[in-house]
Amino acid sequence: MSKLRMTWKISKLILIAVGVLAIGLTVMTLTKKDNDETSNSTTTQYNQGDDYERLNASRLIIAHRGASGYLPEHTTEAKVYAHALGADYIEQDVVLTKDDVPIVLHDIYIDDVTNVAEVFPGRMRRDGRFYAIDFTWAEIKNLRAHERTNDNGEQVFPNRFPHQYTMFNLNTLEDEILLIKGLNKATGRNVGIYPEMKQPEFHASEGKSVVAVVVEMLKLYQYDLKSDKIYLQSFDLQSLKDARDEYGYQGKMIFLIEDGEESENLRTEKAVAKYTKTVDGIGAEISTLVEYDSENKTVTVSDFAKYLKGNNLEIHAWTVREDALPEWADSVEQLQGILFNQVGVTGVFTDFPDISLKYTN
Ligand code: CA
Repeated sequence: MSKLRMTWKISKLILIAVGVLAIGLTVMTLTKKDNDETSNSTTTQYNQGDDYERLNASRLIIAHRGASGYLPEHTTEAKVYAHALGADYIEQDVVLTKDDVPIVLHDIYIDDVTNVAEVFPGRMRRDGRFYAIDFTWAEIKNLRAHERTNDNGEQVFPNRFPHQYTMFNLNTLEDEILLIKGLNKATGRNVGIYPEMKQPEFHASEGKSVVAVVVEMLKLYQYDLKSDKIYLQSFDLQSLKDARDEYGYQGKMIFLIEDGEESENLRTEKAVAKYTKTVDGIGAEISTLVEYDSENKTVTVSDFAKYLKGNNLEIHAWTVREDALPEWADSVEQLQGILFNQVGVTGVFTDFPDISLKYTN
C-alpha cells in the first residue's frame, strides 16, 4: 500500500516537474519570439498573441500595388515582398476579364504592363488599347508581365526593376487572396487586403458588375465584416453603397478622392459630412491634404483635411514614392512627418513599404 502511494507520489512529482519544465520552455519561447519580432526594426513592434499587429497600427502602411517600388506592380513577387517588408495591408486593383474572372490589374488596359501586343496583335480596340475585358483569363494568364511602361515603351520609373525582364505573370483576385492568407498562416502575421473596384461605370457599360463579382469573392473568403482585415475602396461612392446595400458587404470601406477641379465638389465641408454614413474613411491624394506656398516654402493643412478630421474619418494618403516626392518634400521622412503629425492621416499608400515603415512615428 505504502509502496503504491510512494510510486504515485513519485509519479506526481515527475508530472509537476514536467509541467514546470513545459511552462518554462513556453515562457522562453514566447520571450524569444517577442525579442525576435521587436529586434526586426526600431520602429516596428508587435504585440504578442495570435495576431501580430503593430503597436502603432493606427498609422497603417498600405503596400500600393505590392512593393511596387522594387518589383513590377501587382505581380506575385511584388506582393510576397510587400508581406516580407512588413506592410499592414496589401492593395489589389480589380478588373474583370471577358469570362468574368476578377483579376488584379491597375488599369482596364493590359498593354502598359504585359506583352499582350506581341502575343495577340490585332486584338486592340480602335483607340489602340488592349482591354482586359476583351480577353479570357486563360489568354491573360500566359502573358508576361513587366515593370510599367508609357506609350513610347519607356519605363515610367526609370530606377526601378528593368522593364526588359519579363518573367512575371498577372494573378486572379482569388489567387492573391490565397497567397496572402497562406503567407499569414506561415508567418503568424495578419496582413490585410485592400481591394479597389476599378471603374465600375466602364464595367457596367460592358454589361458587367465589378461590384457584384468582387463582393462575392470577399464573402467566399470571409473578408466582409468590420472585424475582418480588409478595406474595400472605390472612386465611385455609389459602388460602395451598392456593395453594402445590394450585395451585403459589411466590412470597412474607403472612398477615394483625387485632386483637381473636377472633384472639388467632393471636398467641401458639406460633402465630407455625408461620407460618415457610408464609409470609414477617405483615400486622399496627398496634394488635397496640404497646401504648399512655393514663395514662402511653407506647407499647411488643407481645409479638406480639417473637415475629414472633424468628422473623425480615417485618412489614407496616396502615394508615397521615394523616387517621386512632392516638390515640397526632400525625403519620405519629411513627407510622412507632415502627413502623420500635422495632417493626422491614419495610413499611407506606399510603393516602398520598408522605407515608409521607418517613419511612422
Ligand atoms: Ca488603387
